[in-house]
Amino acid sequence: MINVEIVLKNYMENLVLEKLDELIDQLDCCKCEKCRMDLVSYALNRLPPKYVASYKGQVYSKLDTLSIQYETDLINAIYQAAKIVSENPRHNQESEDQ
Ligand SMILES: [Zn+2]
Repeated sequence: MINVEIVLKNYMENLVLEKLDELIDQLDCCKCEKCRMDLVSYALNRLPPKYVASYKGQVYSKLDTLSIQYETDLINAIYQAAKIVSENPRHNQESEDQ
């Protein structure tokens, strides 16, 4: 028996990151790593989590449960996040605590 570690993962993370890469050129928002991560966390906090149990290190196959409505919510959340982040960019701040 090989000891395989199983991890819980919020698959929504992958979906948001994927969609962000698709939309990034259309977004009127700073593209630095800090703003990108702010944007992703903002969007994720507004979307329902989608947990999957997965073997660690395994490449995910795309879940086909992503409905059209999900897709629309995802895009809306990303656009909303881009707006908020571009209004309050944090990339010039030295400290992360607020
Ligand atoms: Zn930035």
